[in-house]
Amino acid sequence: MIEVKPKETGLRCPSGRPEFEGSKVFGVVTGVEQTVVNYLPRPVEQAELGIDLPAGIDPAQVFRFTCACAESKCQHFDGAECTLGDRIVRLLPTVTEALPKCSIRGHCRWFRERGRAICLRCPGIVSHDDQPADTVIAAAMPPDRSLQS
Ligand code: SF4
Repeated sequence: MIEVKPKETGLRCPSGRPEFEGSKVFGVVTGVEQTVVNYLPRPVEQAELGIDLPAGIDPAQVFRFTCACAESKCQHFDGAECTLGDRIVRLLPTVTEALPKCSIRGHCRWFRERGRAICLRCPGIVSHDDQPADTVIAAAMPPDRSLQS
């Protein structure tokens, strides 16, 4: 269990890791030709889903986790905001025209900082993607290693 100590914003990360303290599943990755995250009515413990993943599968390949935003302990946080959210909006295409129903919107850092624009891209995001497109690699690159200007 990795402990995160966020500031007092109460904002949550929408692309957390399962091993982070307090992480819960709020979306399930589906789709064959195109990734689509189906958002659950509420965040739940992974165990509540009763899904046994095959050995070697990282839960972040199959689920989207939310946990407290780690802020300065996260490589994507620049001291003021989440740069990952910024890159996603700038580099990735929208995957839906309608605002997805999402149970964490009231506390989501990405939504707080990027609004509707990131929600229209969010269902296409897998936290652990084994075969990412070049644009996804660029979007995931933390600021100090980013090739973006
Ligand atoms: S970006 Fe939007 S759709 Fe994605 S987790 Fe945040 S509120 Fe939900």
